[in-house]
Amino acid sequence: MTSTSETAPRIIPRAEHNISRANISRNAVKVLYRLKDAGYQALLVGGGVRDLLLGLQPKDFDIATDASPEQVRDLFGNCRLIGRRFRLAHVRFRDEIIEVATFRGPGSGDMDGDDRRVLDEAGRILSDNSFGTLEEDAWRRDFTINALYYNIADFSLIDHVGGMADIMARQLRLIGDPETRYREDPVRMVRAARLAAKLGLSIAEDSAGPVARLASLIDAVPPARLFDEFLKVFQTGHALASYELLQRLGLFEHLFPLTAMWLGRDARAGGFIEAALANTDRRVAEGLPVTPMFLFAVFLWGPVRDRAAEIQAAEEISEIQALAIAAAELTELQVQRVALPRRFSVPMREMLQLQPRFVRRQGKRAQALLTHKRFRAAYDLLLLRAAAGEAPQDLADFWTEVQGQDEAEQRKSFGGGGSRRGGSGASRRRRRRPAQRDALGTSS
Ligand code: ATP
Ligand code: MG
Repeated sequence: MTSTSETAPRIIPRAEHNISRANISRNAVKVLYRLKDAGYQALLVGGGVRDLLLGLQPKDFDIATDASPEQVRDLFGNCRLIGRRFRLAHVRFRDEIIEVATFRGPGSGDMDGDDRRVLDEAGRILSDNSFGTLEEDAWRRDFTINALYYNIADFSLIDHVGGMADIMARQLRLIGDPETRYREDPVRMVRAARLAAKLGLSIAEDSAGPVARLASLIDAVPPARLFDEFLKVFQTGHALASYELLQRLGLFEHLFPLTAMWLGRDARAGGFIEAALANTDRRVAEGLPVTPMFLFAVFLWGPVRDRAAEIQAAEEISEIQALAIAAAELTELQVQRVALPRRFSVPMREMLQLQPRFVRRQGKRAQALLTHKRFRAAYDLLLLRAAAGEAPQDLADFWTEVQGQDEAEQRKSFGGGGSRRGGSGASRRRRRRPAQRDALGTSS
């Protein structure tokens, strides 16, 4: 993107905005002052400033400066330089890390003589490692409301891109020409959906318009990066709203193509997925742990189930085996889009494969399911399936009940267990020899 150089920024003095040092983390304030006292520019920027202006509690505070990463490191004892594509300083405190980034430029006039910005054929940024001025730093950011700088020198806000007006209008607008900016970095389309959902903003028409046409550029984004983005979209408390917006913008199908196809052929899929997302949001709101394993299982459940049925129709194997094959196959495909790490994908497949085992309520093997290390997650999936009308509700209720029972009650629920056999699990065995029993006259 070409920066419109030498335009005067709008300076918003302290009296005209609501950002106060009291609302900024003490560690961030400390870092800002240390930089300023050493003669550098020191500003708060990005999500922290934006959230404060919107009256929200920021989740972190990022700092921008004209000091080089090495100069920042020399100022702080508790500092590490990280990152390859662009080096950042992490100033570490007991319970917080403050990220300090040197102003980035559009590619020329870099201070360390490193490579210029390289674009691929689609206009995507491949390498971006050059320092710049505050103004250049503002122009290379994504949305106007993310490019407001809070200056610790006089507590004013510096606005090069019209971000303050968009804060007032509560809208998300890409800096510069939207199509160019999306081509440079297609993840910005997903960020637009995520930030609009999270902050309750509308997306400006010029910024929303090109997305449908450019959505397929997502396909070329490295899957590991999309997994990072997945975590921000789906695990931070606004999964459902983000999902709806991703759908509306035509982006979801590029992240989860198998899921999108399932949604197209199965009327129950939508409700099932939305319930899972609402559930995840509730857990985040309550401070409960969430794991990407679960939502991947939700997104892949229908595709895996249907594929397993196909496999079973062609080969004589058990439902569990068919599910295992289908889960392996489709996970392999999905991680080429969004790279779920193996430590999540392996247990995720277990969750899927356990589903048919819930059908059996009798016998030791059924009871053993309770102690399976994936029981709880698989059970949560069963609950969703029941709520969606895909599994019998009384089956879900059974597994809910037995979890609350003591050992003796459980033995009864599962048909006796131990040496005594009873209940319907045992009756299945009895039924195998009815003719013989009839002949001996012992059957009732
Ligand atoms: P959140 O509150 O969810 O962290 P954020 O806007 O702070 O939202 P970050 O990923 O932490 O998101 O990014 C910090 C800042 O870096 C952004 O506010 C934006 O200015 C800039 N930025 C992030 N991603 C991009 C991108 N893909 N292109 C341009 N600038 C970006
Ligand atoms: Mg942030």
